[in-house]
Amino acid sequence: MTSPEPPEKPKLDCREVLEEVYLYLDAECSDVRRDVIRDHLDECSPCLSEYGIEQEVRTIVHRCCSNEKAPDEVKARLRQKLSAIEQVSEIFSEVAERDR
Ligand SMILES: [Zn+2]
Repeated sequence: MTSPEPPEKPKLDCREVLEEVYLYLDAECSDVRRDVIRDHLDECSPCLSEYGIEQEVRTIVHRCCSNEKAPDEVKARLRQKLSAIEQVSEIFSEVAERDR
């Protein structure tokens, strides 16, 4: 990140949010990450459904808001999907750098 963030609402791009979601799995119920993820869900739910993780992310965020633990199977599934996406986005970023 090279340019300074605008002070009002930090806009994360979808890949950054995916990273946040991944970290969030380990630090469940961390308020900061939950807000970041939830904001992005509101603004940009198509991206999560495109990655096929919208349902899992919503489940986990929602459980957290009501102070319930998300089921391990949901977390495991989401973790699996995220690691698959990570591999894909590594390829994407390599391609983008070559295009420059
Ligand atoms: Zn997005």
